[in-house]
Amino acid sequence: MEKYAHDIIIVGAGLAGLRAAIAAAEVGNKLDIAVISKLHPLRSHSVCAQGGTAAVMREKDSYDLHAFDTIKGADYLADQDVVEFFVRRAPREIILTEHLGLPWSRTSDGKLDQRPFGGHTYPRACFAADMTGFHEMHTLYGKATSYNNIKFYDEWFATSIIVENNTAVGLTAIELKTGEMHAFQTKALVMATGGHERIYEFTTFSYTTTGDGMAMAYRAGAPLMDMEFVQFHPTGLIPSGALITEGARGEGGYLINAKGERFMKNYAPEKMELAPRDVVSRAEQTEINEGRGLEGPHGPYIALDLRHLGEERINERLPLIREVAIKLGGVDPAKEPIPIRPAAHYSMGGIKANIKTETPIAGLYAAGECSCLSLHGANRLGTNSTAECLVFGAVAGEEVAKHALSNSLKELSKEKLLAEEKRVFDEILGSEGGERVPVIRDEMRHVMNEKVWIFRRGDQLESALKEIRALKERFKHIKVQDKGGPFNTGLVDALQLDFMLELAEVTIVSALQRTEFRGAHSRVDYPKRDDINWLKHTLAYYTKEGPRLEYIPVTITKWQPAARTY
Ligand SMILES: Cc1cc2nc3c(=O)[nH]c(=O)nc-3n(C[C@H](O)[C@H](O)[C@H](O)COP(=O)(O)OP(=O)(O)OC[C@H]3O[C@@H](n4cnc5c(N)ncnc54)[C@H](O)[C@@H]3O)c2cc1C
Repeated sequence: MEKYAHDIIIVGAGLAGLRAAIAAAEVGNKLDIAVISKLHPLRSHSVCAQGGTAAVMREKDSYDLHAFDTIKGADYLADQDVVEFFVRRAPREIILTEHLGLPWSRTSDGKLDQRPFGGHTYPRACFAADMTGFHEMHTLYGKATSYNNIKFYDEWFATSIIVENNTAVGLTAIELKTGEMHAFQTKALVMATGGHERIYEFTTFSYTTTGDGMAMAYRAGAPLMDMEFVQFHPTGLIPSGALITEGARGEGGYLINAKGERFMKNYAPEKMELAPRDVVSRAEQTEINEGRGLEGPHGPYIALDLRHLGEERINERLPLIREVAIKLGGVDPAKEPIPIRPAAHYSMGGIKANIKTETPIAGLYAAGECSCLSLHGANRLGTNSTAECLVFGAVAGEEVAKHALSNSLKELSKEKLLAEEKRVFDEILGSEGGERVPVIRDEMRHVMNEKVWIFRRGDQLESALKEIRALKERFKHIKVQDKGGPFNTGLVDALQLDFMLELAEVTIVSALQRTEFRGAHSRVDYPKRDDINWLKHTLAYYTKEGPRLEYIPVTITKWQPAARTY
């Protein structure tokens, strides 16, 4: 194993990772920074972000309003100190990216334009047409490559975090070009590895969002927080699941059932299609379950109607959506409604981190979707994620820089490196069983879709847990067909499946314990929010027998939990 050493290592080159690298580099060129990514940075899922980035940019809007919308959207499970910090810092990030050249969409008088989004009481989503993430990523990547002290390891797959005496001291990663594993020493490590939506069958997320960083941190001893809260986005395109941005409803799109009704009037009479995502997804699923979905070759669906916006506005504000609907759905939204249904879209849970992005392991930080601070509580509002990546990516960069300047490199234990080589090359690549990775992966995704979806019930969750545990057992008897070194995608698939099975188990165990109905976690057998017993965060710790759960209180600053109606 070759050894590399850097003052700071950031795993992940999405919005959070790139923003962290830039912030750390700004602290000074004494720091030597590495960004490790299993993909070329511009293939990170962040590039797909469509609708916008939330920030208070107008006098009529206010920090308190953005904070309250976020907290109410979160069904009061968000930590309010984190939310207050976030809303104050978000506008700075918009201005910074604007100065770096990001082509934000503008009003006719040249000001930054903002569009409405679900659960926000003021139109506060800054956007670049419907390709916001694409432009944010290109802007940040361009800036990051201008620093001499940021080194990119593109297409390196991290496999484990090395922790000694509750301090992160390094990691192992496979260089995909050669298939060889290498060891990295570092003074401070940021996980910015994104979400785990691919544990589900029908999702808006890229094939590569497999939760690796969450699983690595969990196995290294860091707790995962609130993993039961998975967001379902109301408008996944049928049949692929590709996202149709909420911006389409922000621009005025309607949701229609088989009777031709705008059924949201029965669920959220005030906000209608722009209620938060948990509310709209539940409404759609109820329409489908009660037989009011439209019938299509891929099962019942809901129609998203944009025709009344007119071709010109669709082309100007939603060009990507039109292209995606035509190419992946076979419908032209200017002429016919788009067939959609809810799709797994976001992980509110993740590696537990505080307002400074510190995890309970010294020297280990987490930012972006893989982290849980908790900004989004039980349900995230649209456009708050890209904003979170920018704000807390920056915080992570500043904090690791401080940490690295006052700490030294530590030795990596030989036993741990050898054990990781054995796990990856002997136990996973060397396994000669009869099980196939894609088969187990598809079964896992099917179980999650069928039994850990929008509406949840204790008996179904228990049955899902049994099935996922059986799949974990079967995983021990896989066979990766390709035994070669360079670009062994079979091995990568196996490593990712191993991580996903771990996270599926944590998601279900956390969901089973939480016997209430809050945000995106809709327990039909416990149909009420229960603040007396459940106004608390779940922490899941790794043990060989499965996750051990603990609970910690929610931080309330000034917004007491209240009834949540829209
Ligand atoms: C289609 C779509 C549209 C969206 N639109 C919006 C929107 O308009 N507004 C909004 O706020 N949010 C939106 N979101 C959500 C938002 O885009 C994501 O939550 C956010 O971009 C996540 O960024 P990230 O930096 O945390 O992770 P990602 O962008 O997912 O990046 C993860 C990085 O980690 C690396 N990585 C992962 N595992 C490993 C490993 N084992 N070894 C090495 N590297 C690894 C990857 O290579 C990648 O660089 C959207 C999401 C989707 C899917």
